[in-house]
Amino acid sequence: MKFDYVIVGAGYAGSVLAERIANVLKKKVLIIEQRNHIGGNAYDTHDKEGILIHKYGPHIFHTVEESVWNYLSNFTEWDIYHHEVLGVIDGKKVPIPFNLNTLHELLPGVLAENIEQKLVKRFGFGKKVTILELKKENDDDLKFLSDFVYNKVFLNYTIKQWGMKPEELAPSVTGRVPVFISRDNRYFQDQFQAMPRYGYTAMFRNILDSSNIKILLNTDYKEVIKDIKYEKLIFSGMIDYFFDYKFGQLPYRSLDFNFENLRQEYFQDCGTVNYPNDYKFTRITEFKRLTGQKAPSTTIVTEFSKAYVPGQEMPYYPIPRDENENQYLQYEAEAKKQENVMFVGRLAQYKYFNQDQTVLSALKHFDTMK
Ligand code: UDP
Repeated sequence: MKFDYVIVGAGYAGSVLAERIANVLKKKVLIIEQRNHIGGNAYDTHDKEGILIHKYGPHIFHTVEESVWNYLSNFTEWDIYHHEVLGVIDGKKVPIPFNLNTLHELLPGVLAENIEQKLVKRFGFGKKVTILELKKENDDDLKFLSDFVYNKVFLNYTIKQWGMKPEELAPSVTGRVPVFISRDNRYFQDQFQAMPRYGYTAMFRNILDSSNIKILLNTDYKEVIKDIKYEKLIFSGMIDYFFDYKFGQLPYRSLDFNFENLRQEYFQDCGTVNYPNDYKFTRITEFKRLTGQKAPSTTIVTEFSKAYVPGQEMPYYPIPRDENENQYLQYEAEAKKQENVMFVGRLAQYKYFNQDQTVLSALKHFDTMK
């Protein structure tokens, strides 16, 4: 059988491009996927007790990109969901990102009031400031605040999550969770926030539902690619693996997940509770809080971060920092020389993409193909 395109990977990048190529260009696509399922890390499935869980950790959909929202809305209905996270700081569960409510819950009244006034005066109500930016402030109260937030919220969590301090990583990493000069307790302020009503896997099934798309699961593309006839390749796996690690292995961070079903209706008050300073894990997520599923028992997942060992662990996160970016750029230069191969997605572009950013990148890559 001959295909117009072979796509490596059935996550967001591969699936979105397969859908566009199959339905807009009307070309034949073969997707080759290493795992035994579609959906990449967004894959969800029902556990033994019937609770819908995210096998590769919590995925909460949010975007400011209307084009991405409209695109995915072709394949799923949505349940509105605004994610909230609490962090255990000094034994209290307080809103994360650190905001004015967090400030007043953790610091004594007069001090909190004074700091609030200074924050509003310096940055403006409703503004977001990254912790690394806040640390540059000279005012004594703002210095006190930035040290407090850095030490209580960011330092130990980041060491657990990345094995590094915040300043050893690109500022964009901790910048994902900026101090928010607001009373809004939501984790994201994006215009579009929701969970796919029937789950992510069901959404991916719809994305891939085309007679022009064939899917080969449980297969490393390198084992079969020489036996397949095709015109073009789209690769969404690890770019360093594609090039046989010729510029060395790119660093990734991996995770262990501990899923537990508990014989109680709910476990915690919100979707995720972060534990920056206590225990070895970083956070606990309760799926029913995300999906709105009703059931007599509940399933939680506890996340432990760990080093990535090639061939043994899953490469969940690229590690954004200058030296890694420079190493990636060597691969990117090589990728540009490949006339018939396109590299798309978190692992192929070595970017800490959210779900919507991967979809956006795939749609933009598709635009260059038309
Ligand atoms: N972070 C932190 N403390 C928190 C939450 C986040 O230090 O309570 C930092 C940490 O470095 C983390 C990064 O901010 O890796 C990004 O957090 P996010 O929740 O966006 O991570 P993800 O959900 O992608 O794992």
